[in-house]
Amino acid sequence: MALNPSFHFVCFLTLVSALCNANRNIPNFPPSPSPFHSNLASTITNFDYLKYLKNYGYMDYARAHLHFGASQVEILKVAILTFQMNFGLSRTGELNDETMFKMLIPRCGVSDITDGVNTMILPSRRASTAKHHNKTGAEFPSYYDFFKGRPRWPYTRLSYTYMDGFPEHAKADMEAAFERWANVSDFNFYENLGFFESDIVIGYFRGGHGDGEPFDGPRGVLAHAFPPDDGRVHFDADENWSFQPRTVDMYHFETVATHEIGHILGLGHSTDREAIMFPSLAMGQFKELGVDDIDAISVLYPPPF
Ligand SMILES: [Zn+2]
Ligand SMILES: [Zn+2]
Repeated sequence: MALNPSFHFVCFLTLVSALCNANRNIPNFPPSPSPFHSNLASTITNFDYLKYLKNYGYMDYARAHLHFGASQVEILKVAILTFQMNFGLSRTGELNDETMFKMLIPRCGVSDITDGVNTMILPSRRASTAKHHNKTGAEFPSYYDFFKGRPRWPYTRLSYTYMDGFPEHAKADMEAAFERWANVSDFNFYENLGFFESDIVIGYFRGGHGDGEPFDGPRGVLAHAFPPDDGRVHFDADENWSFQPRTVDMYHFETVATHEIGHILGLGHSTDREAIMFPSLAMGQFKELGVDDIDAISVLYPPPF
């Protein structure tokens, strides 16, 4: 599977922090005249949006959906359109400020598009979409997705191990994240005390750590994980992690851990901003499992499992 987390932020930490906190109140900016023109883009000259679009699969996806010989501008426009669609933004195909705001928010390192499949919008899933009904009987579409080929675990009792260097004070939050999934599925999780190989191996690393996907320091990529039945999940040790529900200037570890366990179990990214499987997370943001997440796990592992 393609993990493309190497998205790096340079300088502008104060500005980025302000942008992240202001995210919920982003005004609708008028479209910029071309993909390259943006007030914000010209301000944040060191932000490499091309690298972002490439790392998370958007450039290859756009190239594959255009005619042979398409220009770089055409490819970029489709890449930006796809990103805007995935993140619920106005579809302008232009690198406007709203789009830049969204790219600047730290996120999971798992790519949104893997092996040519946009895991956030999949037409075949849309056609047979597992719609759910709320208490009033209204129908809602689902926004979750799975990895290509829908890999999943053949059993539901999974062991886990912490690698050396994982902080003791983060273990309770990791276990609370496991518990969240256990509460809505047939899965249960237990710590392997070292007698056999674990299903899930949990690491906490700074920079390069041997899987070809080095972490990038503070912000940018927060964590990444591999789909079934790999079981590896890694957290960026350079992040300012919070172990309290709502610490405004930190990232909530249990929320991120819950997201990454979703990948471990086979869930891809969701376009539902309320879902735990939405790719990005603002500072201080706390999330529970959403309806979309619970739908996703019960579709991938339908009861009785
Ligand atoms: Zn993710
Ligand atoms: Zn890793």
